[in-house]
Amino acid sequence: MEELDQVKEKIARAARRAGRDPQDVTLVAVSKRHDVDAIRPLLDAGHRDFGENRVQEAQEKWPALKAEFPDVRLHMVGQLQSNKAADAAEIFDVIHSLDRNSLLKELAKLDTKPACYIQLDVGEEEQKGGLPLSQLVAFHAKVKDAAIPLAGLMAMPPQGVEASPFFALTAELARRHGIAGLSMGMSGDYEEAIMLGATVVRIGTALFGTRN
Ligand SMILES: *Cc1c(COP(=O)(O)O)cnc(C)c1O
Repeated sequence: MEELDQVKEKIARAARRAGRDPQDVTLVAVSKRHDVDAIRPLLDAGHRDFGENRVQEAQEKWPALKAEFPDVRLHMVGQLQSNKAADAAEIFDVIHSLDRNSLLKELAKLDTKPACYIQLDVGEEEQKGGLPLSQLVAFHAKVKDAAIPLAGLMAMPPQGVEASPFFALTAELARRHGIAGLSMGMSGDYEEAIMLGATVVRIGTALFGTRN
């Protein structure tokens, strides 16, 4: 699949430029608002990490695909309401948007807790969700106490401004707190994110085009 090959090549180039192993960067193909027909070519090409931002949409699209491709890993990249935590944990393997105590409490109750990224509100934009930076230390401790597997930090810089300082800040916070994973970088800025240490990039438009 041409778009997939192009994105993977750019990821590899950015990683090598940063002196990193391209294998250390996971591409999550964000398939929100795209139907199964658009997703299938990526599956056929061997791609296995996909992202969705709504629980209901994932429930509609993915059970059948997961039955067919059991090694798919599904990533929740959207804001998650606490009352949907259990449903989300059933279908998603990884949650990139753990950002509140209420959500943490619901996830803590589950027998099988999904791996989670703590989403940081790096741009101080409440509508995007994310934990205020000042709360990271206390929240990180609570995640540990709740035995929720921590995959890393996630950040979504504000639109319309240079993203790199926000990526650098997120990477610095992860380093300071001994957190390994960094979910950062989207279609418009993933190469910069990789230069600054991203271990996961979440890419929709560059793979699927724009729709809706
Ligand atoms: C939609 C979305 C993406 C992908 O964005 P593109 O710019 O289309 O690559 C990544 N992360 C999150 C949280 C999203 O909602």
